[in-house]
Amino acid sequence: MTDFSLNMPDKNGYFGEYGGSFVPDVLNDILAEITVAYENIKDDPSFTKELADLYKSYVGRPSPIFHAKNLSKKIGGAQIYFKREDLNHTGAHKINHCLGEALLAKKMGKTKLIAETGAGQHGVALATAAAILGLECDIHMGEVDIKKEHPNVIRMKILGAKVIPVSHGLKTLKEAVDSAFMAYLEDPVNQLYAIGSVVGPHPFPMMVRDFQAVVGREAKKQFEEMVGKQPDSLVACVGGGSNAIGLFTAYLNDEDVDIYGVEPAGTGFKVGEHAATLTLGTPGIIHGFKCYLLQDENGEPSPVHSVASGLDYPGVGPEHSYLKDIERVNYKTISDDEAIDAFFEISREEGIIPAIESAHAISYAMKLAAEKKPDETILVNLSGRGDKDIDYVVETYGKKYGI
Ligand SMILES: *Cc1c(COP(=O)(O)O)cnc(C)c1O
Repeated sequence: MTDFSLNMPDKNGYFGEYGGSFVPDVLNDILAEITVAYENIKDDPSFTKELADLYKSYVGRPSPIFHAKNLSKKIGGAQIYFKREDLNHTGAHKINHCLGEALLAKKMGKTKLIAETGAGQHGVALATAAAILGLECDIHMGEVDIKKEHPNVIRMKILGAKVIPVSHGLKTLKEAVDSAFMAYLEDPVNQLYAIGSVVGPHPFPMMVRDFQAVVGREAKKQFEEMVGKQPDSLVACVGGGSNAIGLFTAYLNDEDVDIYGVEPAGTGFKVGEHAATLTLGTPGIIHGFKCYLLQDENGEPSPVHSVASGLDYPGVGPEHSYLKDIERVNYKTISDDEAIDAFFEISREEGIIPAIESAHAISYAMKLAAEKKPDETILVNLSGRGDKDIDYVVETYGKKYGI
């Protein structure tokens, strides 16, 4: 069996055939510099201790594990547990890698963080990390998204970040990536482009994975203390794949642990109705790396849809692409309607309003639990809280759920 100690990727950033760095030469030099800086700093106590202190006293780590007894009892199968990343400062797992990237930028002597954001979740987490570490922060965002995601735009501004409206093309995420990329190329010496998931060219899928791996490390220790053994199954939702790889990494060598990644089936399996990249995609190149990709016959990314904006991406992390091919992780899908059902079920059974992204994972865990015995256990990564989703959910689905 493959050894998954953090030896992957190889020195060129490949997980099997996936990953790498497909960018213009100028950028390759910069990425190589970031890789070297990261390799030099990642085990340096001045870096690891400062990050650990931030995780503890600023983020509130370790996040607890919660036994969802009401939900488990109702289903009558396996016991479901939640890793509560929703309790982190700023309400999701993204702060884990944003702080890591921001601290790396600071140690490299950079003064500004730069990123794109779609729904604004990455933008808010990065603006937060920039504020605490005294860095400037420019967030590129499509004008359409700026209108849709008003509260997050305001949060970023309150936190001192500059929100840069992008007005070309469809004025959404893809154009925001282009815009941030151009701005980055103008001054790669003083800026760091902080990618928001385990995607993009090497070294980002590796770095973001390493920063998120704290989730699985904690879980392994906590679950042993709490239950006296390790979970039989792990479940996490997969957009780019950062919260999932964060939980999975600690368990990849544990053959007895079954691992499930959950992708959004949206409203159906026709092009444009879903974002089930690993389930329906084929290998291709997007945003400077190779991965499973939902693409047309010319290799252009297909339109995607999910009720969860954080899962709405036509590519996926290269490590997940590899884990699918070697069949270490099972990738499943959950539809918009199933996720919303789970959103209300968890709110009403456990008093926890989950992010719609996380509700995909819990929905699949509920199906899995129903097939298993009460002495079996499932650990779900509850990647974020649902405060950001309540207005949309009630407007769109409220009637069906008596609101
Ligand atoms: C952004 C986001 C996701 C999806 O991102 P991954 O990189 O796949 O983890 C999932 N859950 C929440 C709450 C998010 O904000």
